[in-house]
Formats: sequence, structure tokens, C-alpha cells
Amino acid sequence: MHTIDLGLVEMTLDVVKFAIGRITDTTPHLGYPKSADELRRLVGETVTPQGIGGEVAFGLFRDVLMKASVSIDHPRHLAFVPASPTRAAVMFDLVTSAACVHGAFWLEGAGCIFAEMQVMEWLVSLTGMPDGAFGVFTSGGTEANLSAMVAAREAWRAADPERRTRRGIVIAADSAHSSIRAMAKVIDADVVFVPTDDRFDAALLRQHLGWLSPPDRQRVFAVIATGGTTNAGIIDDLAGIAAICEREGLWFHVDAAYGGGALAAPSARPLFTGIERADSVTIDPHKWLFSPYDCGAVIYRRPELARMAHAQEGSYLDIFSDEAMRGFNPSDYQIQLTRRVRGLPLWFSLAMHGTDRYAQAIERGLELARIAGRLIEASPHVQLVRPPSLSCVLFRRAGWAAGDYRDWTLRNHRSGYALVTPTTVGHGPDTETVARFCFINPDTTEQDVQGILDTMV
Ligand SMILES: *Cc1c(COP(=O)(O)O)cnc(C)c1O
Repeated sequence: MHTIDLGLVEMTLDVVKFAIGRITDTTPHLGYPKSADELRRLVGETVTPQGIGGEVAFGLFRDVLMKASVSIDHPRHLAFVPASPTRAAVMFDLVTSAACVHGAFWLEGAGCIFAEMQVMEWLVSLTGMPDGAFGVFTSGGTEANLSAMVAAREAWRAADPERRTRRGIVIAADSAHSSIRAMAKVIDADVVFVPTDDRFDAALLRQHLGWLSPPDRQRVFAVIATGGTTNAGIIDDLAGIAAICEREGLWFHVDAAYGGGALAAPSARPLFTGIERADSVTIDPHKWLFSPYDCGAVIYRRPELARMAHAQEGSYLDIFSDEAMRGFNPSDYQIQLTRRVRGLPLWFSLAMHGTDRYAQAIERGLELARIAGRLIEASPHVQLVRPPSLSCVLFRRAGWAAGDYRDWTLRNHRSGYALVTPTTVGHGPDTETVARFCFINPDTTEQDVQGILDTMV
């Protein structure tokens, strides 16, 4: 592996050249998918007993595979929750891989885990959670939500032996992210979904708790609110829900996977009042904190409860409980054992730029949403569906049905101009297909937004 040959040097140059070119390219090729059949025809069989060589494989990646993949940081990629990792973070992602560090245990990863912990201290400080609150970096918001739900359920069961065989219930609004339903399946819990077109608030929670039968009420162990819904950027009534959870002894989880970055933006921070009272919080640095994929985070008010739920035991792991080896083991606080030190790219970028630059870049996303709102109001062919919330903007094109939005999305994507996708709002027969912008990339311009609106005329 370690003898230098010319092919390796050439491949290394290709890779580094591509990485530098891509990292400095602010309007990368948008990318458009091809069918698996077509890709097979174009690249052939690449995994062979003898190998096809680095140069050939790299050429196929650069010229075929990457062109059939979307560059998520394109400034006119405003679909789903886009991303915009900093150059520093992307560069350091390469370094993180090259460094070959096991990020599960202090014994192996102490130095790098320490750097992750400094970033985590900053994240915790953004939430305003009390002393002792702490967390770990996960593969994403889904894993963070799962880890928090398992910790909540285990704490609930530990408090009363009768609950050991009882199936739990989680209460969430139907505007909660799809991962809540999916992860409830993983832990075999039921979810009571509270329907709402707006904020999930204390009154709705009180009402739905009241509607439960006494045996079902006994099964409720957690309430999940969202700090910036994925669809519309709505921040639930965190303070009101926190108060009920405190009174009723329910675990309060705030899913701020998308919106959590806005905690660093002074103009948006007050909207999150109440998050400091959460038992656990999810924030995705790979969304609005400009970290490359994949990097989520989960924070716990009482990390020892998470450790009770997640620490793995095995004779091959006994060494880690030895006094001399003791330290913070990220594997004890989420469902993953072996892990890369995935908080490290964010650490380097934060250390390099400082947190003020982050606040500015996030404020720019919020500003872009307000700009889009104004441009929409000034254009006769489009209308706002609701005022912009965080960096999400929902709007309709007068006279369009679902098929028109789909055709428009495909047209803009296929031409390589923009990727903006529709969503729906409302319930049942009132469901309406609308267009949606989500801003993350601070390099998106007002002209980009106007240009996209112009494609709807
Ligand atoms: C994106 C998102 C998730 C899922 O996060 P992944 O990183 O995609 O696993 C969960 N909750 C909310 C609110 C989100 O926006």
C-alpha cells in the first residue's frame, strides 16, 4: 500500500486538482440524474479483479458520475434543505479522512474528540441549556432524533418497572420531520400526530393530552417540537410546550435539525425561547452550520441519561473503563460505535473564521428569504402562501396545478439552471401544491431569486 508508484502520484494529482477546483468553484455544475441503465452503459463494469486503474476510475467519476449527481452547494439549489459547506470545512474533511482517527473512544481519539467538544460547548451555549448539558456529533438529524428518543424512552422505563413491557407514545405535530415517524418505528413506539397548519403550541398539546384515554396517557413518554419545520421554517411554541412537559414529567425534545443554525443569528434567536428547557435538542451542522455531509448533533440536558441508554458493553471494550483510559467517549451518547470524528471539519472552519462570520452567513440566509418575499409580492404572477419563516419561503404561481410545478422543476433542473422543488400545504381536500425556497448558501443572489421567479411567468 505504501510504496510510491507513478500511477499513484498521477491519481493523487488528479484528486487534489479536482478537490481544489471544486472547492474554489462557486457555481459548480448543477448535475442531473441519469438512469442506472444509462450509467452502466457509460461507465461499464468498474469493479473488477484486476482494477481499472486510478486514472480511468477518476475520469469516470469526474466526467460521468459527478455530472449525474447534484452539487448541493449550487447557489440556485434551493430545494429541500440545501447546503453550503465552507471551503475550510471541506478542506478539513479531506484532512479528517487522511488523519485516520477512530472517534468513538477517548483512548483512541482524545485530541480530535477534544476539538469536537469545544465545538459542542459552543453549540450548547447557543441553546442556553443549563450547566452539564452536553452532546455528540451524529451522522445526521435522523440519528440524533433516534438517539434522543431512545434516551427518553429508557429514562421513562427506568423510572417505573411497570413500564418495562409497556409500549411508549410520542406526541408530535404532523409538521414534524418524516424521521420522527420513521424512528418511532425503529423503537417500536406509537406517535400521536397533532394536525396543524401553523405552530404546534401549548393549547394543542394540552388538548391532545386530554383526549388520550388514561391507559394511553400513561404510555406517553416524550413530546417532540420542531425548531424550524423542514417544510415551512415554523418554530413551534417551545416555551409553552416546555412548561407542560415540566409539569407532566414528559421528556421534551426539540428537533432543530434545520433551524438550529439560526440560534447563532441574533435576529432569530428570540424565536427559539424555551429551547433552553429541552431535555434534548437535535441540530444538523450539515444544514445551516456549513459543515460537509454528514454531520448532525444531539445535545442532552442530562447526558448521563443518554449514557445509560447508549453505552455498549463487551469484554473487548472493558479497557475503556480503566481509570487511566477514562475520558469522554462519544460512542456512549448515540447509537453509533465506530465513527469518524465528523465534528472536526466544523471545528477547523469555526476556529479559522470565528463564530461572528457564522452569524453573518446565517443572517444572510434569513435576509434572502425576506428579499424573496418582497420579490414575490412585487411580481403579479406569484403570491406568498405565508410570510417567510426562517429561510423558508412558500409561494404559489397563480393558475398552476401540481403537474405544472413538477414540469417547471424538471425544466429548470434539466437545463442546469436551478433546482427548486414544490411541496404541499394544508390538509385533506384543502391540500395545495406550492413552490418552496429554502436558503442556506450565502452566495445566492437577489438576481438568482428573480431569475427563478421569471421562469414561472
Ligand atoms: C433534515 C431534518 C431531519 C433529518 O436530518 P438528516 O440529517 O437528514 O438525517 C430531521 N428533522 C428536521 C427538522 C430536519 O429538517
